[in-house]
Amino acid sequence: MSAVKEPSFRESVDLMFNRAVAMMDLPPGLEEKIRVCNATYTVRFGVRLRGQIQTFTGYRAVHSEHMEPVKGGIRFAMGVNQDEVEALAALMTYKCALVEAPFGGSKGGLRIDPRQYDEHEMELITRRFAYELIKRDLIHPSQNVPAPDMGTGEREMAWIADQYARMNTTEINAKACVTGKPLNAGGISGRVEATGRGVQYALREFFRDSEGMKKAGLTGKLDGKRVIVQGLGNVGYHAAKFLAEEDGCVISGIIEHDGALFNNDGLDVEAVRAWIVKHGGVSGFPDATHTAEGAAVLEEDCEILIPAALEGVINLGNAARIKAPLIIEAANGPITAGGDEVLRKKGTVIIPDMYANAGGVTVSYFEWVKNLSHIRFGRMQRRQEESRHELVINELESLSASMGDKWSMSPDFKAKYLRGADELELVRSGLDDTMRIAYQSMAAVWHERDDVEDLRMAAYLVAIGKVAASYRAKGL
Ligand code: NAD
Repeated sequence: MSAVKEPSFRESVDLMFNRAVAMMDLPPGLEEKIRVCNATYTVRFGVRLRGQIQTFTGYRAVHSEHMEPVKGGIRFAMGVNQDEVEALAALMTYKCALVEAPFGGSKGGLRIDPRQYDEHEMELITRRFAYELIKRDLIHPSQNVPAPDMGTGEREMAWIADQYARMNTTEINAKACVTGKPLNAGGISGRVEATGRGVQYALREFFRDSEGMKKAGLTGKLDGKRVIVQGLGNVGYHAAKFLAEEDGCVISGIIEHDGALFNNDGLDVEAVRAWIVKHGGVSGFPDATHTAEGAAVLEEDCEILIPAALEGVINLGNAARIKAPLIIEAANGPITAGGDEVLRKKGTVIIPDMYANAGGVTVSYFEWVKNLSHIRFGRMQRRQEESRHELVINELESLSASMGDKWSMSPDFKAKYLRGADELELVRSGLDDTMRIAYQSMAAVWHERDDVEDLRMAAYLVAIGKVAASYRAKGL
């Protein structure tokens, strides 16, 4: 590690924010209003487990309420602390603005190692934490809507939703108090895969941007590109799976908490995932080289590096040795401000977290809308769409018959055209559209302004501009 002191995650976010506002023309008061975290609630609560009371510490930070509800995940991890939660809440503000999800920014966390507790214990702890937040309106369909993050998933979101419903028995919109729920508890198709899917859509859009590709020194298509992923959890797994299965990427490295797997011919993502689920890590996986010092694999040769686990993993200590010309930040804050500077000077292109992992909040937004409208997307129009397409097909077929059947439609086309979109297809389409538009808004700033050298700066400029406009519209 370098002897130079690294800024903390919180300081990194502030530094990047400061770099951006220095290039904008905002009144200083408004600048400060946007920068500060509005409020952070710290709770310590006891849960009786294994015959004794254990005390837990949790947080919910609200960074900006220029739009409400505020939105942001709840993280279960030992490293959770106030600074981290506040930095993540700030990122949520900018992320929502960038992808035009109409929310302010928030984030929550509980200091816990979920691996130390069984399911029943986790339920008791999660419900108790949720109770503390719900009674202060820090979980509420119109004020504060959490979602999954590191260490939490559908299961925890279902407990939170149920806890809210128990405490608000007549609230018709109770299910909208949290997103990332399982389908049978008011969730939406495609939420689990959403963040990883968003990473895939982001990369596809990047590969359509010839100027961006040139800056990264990349050519061609995603097909055949070598990808190293750190963290095969929800985000990393889905990103790696879709990129391998649908875009022909070669997943050459997978870094997990217990080391890394490397195989230049490509790793079987499904097999590695199954191994992790069964054995708790990647150690012992056949068909690959295992390195105990996992982080070293970040420095291996590849075209695309996807840190999808923790913050601060690329820093002053290793940034200079990173070979990938393109890094997409699937995790929040994986590159420190120091690391970012080193990489920028080297010409590495970084697709920033604020944009890269926004797929999760985008589909959370769709889920929230679904909960408030109490109807599944596509339910009203799917069959109507199918009948209209059938009309066209019938007309074309009778036309063809009247011309002596000189031409016909391929059965594949006919089947595809006749199928109306279900919820999953609509969600993916909405996500794809969001990721493309947000990328284009950043790329326009990146390519058009000489003083903007990277996508992160462009993302901050677009996002802060939108938050500022929203505050101004409120008369601030
Ligand atoms: P997760 O808990 O499902 O997965 C994290 C993975 O990282 C796990 O497989 C874990 O074993 C692995 N890991 C832990 N320590 C590691 C280490 N030192 N080296 C390598 N791997 C390690 O979490 P997730 O939901 O996939 O979130 C990952 C990141 O993505 C976080 O930064 C989170 O804030 C961000 N994110 C998640 C979502 C979402 O929808 N889940 C949305 C936006 C951003």
